[in-house]
Amino acid sequence: SSAASPIRATLFPGDGIGPEIAESVKQVFRTADVPIEWEEHYVSDQIDPRTQSFLTWESLESVRRNGVGLKGPMATPIGKGHRSLNLTLRKELNLYANVRPCYSLPGYKTRYDNVNLITIRENTEGEYSGLEHQVVRGVVESLKIITRQASLRVAEYAFHYAKAHGRERVSAIHKANIMQKTDGLFLKCCREVAEKYPEIKYEEVVIDNCCMMLVKNPSLFDVLVMPNLYGDIISDLCAGLIGGLGLTPSCNIGEGGIALAEAVHGSAPDIAGKNLANPTALLLSSVTMLRHLELHDKADRIQDAVLNTIAEGKYRTADLGGSSSTTEFTNAICDHI
Ligand code: NAD
Repeated sequence: SSAASPIRATLFPGDGIGPEIAESVKQVFRTADVPIEWEEHYVSDQIDPRTQSFLTWESLESVRRNGVGLKGPMATPIGKGHRSLNLTLRKELNLYANVRPCYSLPGYKTRYDNVNLITIRENTEGEYSGLEHQVVRGVVESLKIITRQASLRVAEYAFHYAKAHGRERVSAIHKANIMQKTDGLFLKCCREVAEKYPEIKYEEVVIDNCCMMLVKNPSLFDVLVMPNLYGDIISDLCAGLIGGLGLTPSCNIGEGGIALAEAVHGSAPDIAGKNLANPTALLLSSVTMLRHLELHDKADRIQDAVLNTIAEGKYRTADLGGSSSTTEFTNAICDHI
């Protein structure tokens, strides 16, 4: 156990199944003696005028102050006059990179059993800049923004990640043969950063070819870095390779080294409150948070316990074909720890 003073981290349990799977994470962290003290924040039922969102200024300040956080799924309330919760987090915390480790879960059979790759998605610009307008009736225009600053920032993160995690290769995914200026600039930035990391192999792969290679043989890839839209699509494609969004962890990296880990799935209102949810994605997301904090031994223990529980097959939740409750599955993980 750790004698050092605990690290404070923000926890957004979120909506729907969020509080149930957040409870799993808290129980597993207690069992593994992780030196984290959670600062819990809930989505408000009123709009905070300072954020124009149901997320309060205090919640955002908590993440800024702690530098790390874990977020359950959030259901954005419908209505006018507020920003979506995920958009608020992304903008206010300047979450510029979305990182998704994607690896086969031993014992859980999918089409491939040798997937082990990381997708890193630029998360602030590209086609998602929100700059669309009608030119004349019947003709609309959307602006794809690529900047040197954002491209260098995400490329730098990708190479830094590859080096820190003992990865061998970074592939930049693009369509620069058609999008010559925008994707061309993105590639130019990746190349510049690649020169600073001679020990990491660098390659460029056209997005259409990348899709074909991924579905034919995902083991061809290691770390993939790409602009926003390609990252959105490819990261879900990769999640599909290992069994779906319910298993996939993710982590958002923001300005000043902020890391906000989150499960990729939604609040699953159909099974909320029934003790049926699978906490795996949030648990593996919490593992990415621990790795960001360089608490690798704790991260390994929790990751191994989750993977071994699934591999053993005795306790699995319904989405993985089992009949265990969230609590039974969580207890089994704790027994492995
Ligand atoms: P969803 O991911 O909530 O559910 C899709 C299906 O997957 C459902 O059948 C659900 O039961 C199942 N599922 C999802 N996570 C599961 C888990 N951990 N264990 C077992 N089964 C699981 O997607 P949806 O129904 O499209 O969205 C519901 C709500 O979630 C919406 O309000 C949406 O806006 C929100 N949402 C939030 C996020 C986020 O916060 N990042 C992401 C996606 C959707």
